[in-house]
Amino acid sequence: MSLYPLALRLEGRRVLVVGGGSVATRRVPALIAAGARVDIVSPELTPALRAHVDAGRASWTPRRFVPGDVAGAWLVHVAVDDPEAAAQVSVAADEARVFCVRADDRDAATAWTPAVTRHGQVTVAVTDGGDRRRAMAVRDLVAHALEAAPPASPEFSGVALVGAGPGDPELITVKGRRLLAAADVVVADRLVPGMLLGELRPEVELIDAAKIPYGPSAAQEEINRILVDRALRGRFVVRLKGGDNFVFGRGGEEALACARAGVPVVVVPGVTSSIAAPALAGIPVTHRGVAHEFTVVSGHIPPDHADSLVDWPALARLRGTLVVLMGLKNLPKIAERLIAEGRAATTPVAVVQEGSTAHQRSLRGTLGTVAEQVSAAGIRPPAVVVIGDVVTVGEGFAPAGG
Ligand code: SAH
Repeated sequence: MSLYPLALRLEGRRVLVVGGGSVATRRVPALIAAGARVDIVSPELTPALRAHVDAGRASWTPRRFVPGDVAGAWLVHVAVDDPEAAAQVSVAADEARVFCVRADDRDAATAWTPAVTRHGQVTVAVTDGGDRRRAMAVRDLVAHALEAAPPASPEFSGVALVGAGPGDPELITVKGRRLLAAADVVVADRLVPGMLLGELRPEVELIDAAKIPYGPSAAQEEINRILVDRALRGRFVVRLKGGDNFVFGRGGEEALACARAGVPVVVVPGVTSSIAAPALAGIPVTHRGVAHEFTVVSGHIPPDHADSLVDWPALARLRGTLVVLMGLKNLPKIAERLIAEGRAATTPVAVVQEGSTAHQRSLRGTLGTVAEQVSAAGIRPPAVVVIGDVVTVGEGFAPAGG
């Protein structure tokens, strides 16, 4: 069979989906994403389809198909198991000269959905000729090649603030990785996984922000200046940060500096260590019946310091989870202050060093004991401190990072 490949512009056009089960659940999101007016005809809907209907992204006629349903549709998707019912839709679609995709019987279809991978503006669609598995394998190969190869021209000039995740190079997002592969300039942070930088093309200008030879605040100004300067020269700059750029990552300052200079900014959130490191040590930051809140605090300034913006007495009154970043050095003072302000010395505490990496280690103790344990065990930064009853919840399972 010889097929004619085509891409459809469905925006604002009616697409009829017959069936409301698992096949329809998998097909409908791409139709909605294409802007189609999706009408689902089915006596029942899966909860996911129901959510689309409730949100106004699709409409639903709660009954079985009748031939008149095809009227006004540009495309019909049959997603029912019953071959007779499906054939009835096919006949009606044929009579109305509307293309019809059949999930149940590919040979009876007049249109086939390809295996798809999307990369920014580019969509790669692989049509099988009956061999769906092979088409998917080809699609995966193309997707893989596109991830590894930089696009011929940058899709964007400006600055992308990209979160690199907590340490495992696989914990960057798909979008972050794609933009990183397209970067002309990468400004990286000390906590960025080295493996990600090893993949950069040789001609990429790599700037190690940790090596900028100024004091901390002058260094930030210099970073802002570099971001703006390179972007104004038409280069695509990725500002890569450990975890998430907007969690103690100065992403806000950098975004403002770019905005002031008229440089467009894209934000790609990252997996923050404040949630990921506890999770990988078996600690959920919230747990039903245990903690309905978690607070992320910086411990880089001691509680008694004039510059501290943290309300430690208020934190000591909370029952929920407290996650302290950059808090190792000040841990004795932090623990002491929380106890002095009323949090029980027996409150469980865990410390997780280098979460998600091959060097991850963690220890558990209490507010009263943790500072000594940390120094005895030689725990080093980067590490997060988790305080609260959720620490003991996690003793029932030992996760693997994959
Ligand atoms: N933007 C980062 C946080 C930067 S502040 C994020 O969202 O994760 C730096 C602090 O983050 C470190 O001092 C440490 O407390 C924590 N941290 C970062 N990576 C970590 C990791 N892999 N394991 C444990 N803590 C980590």
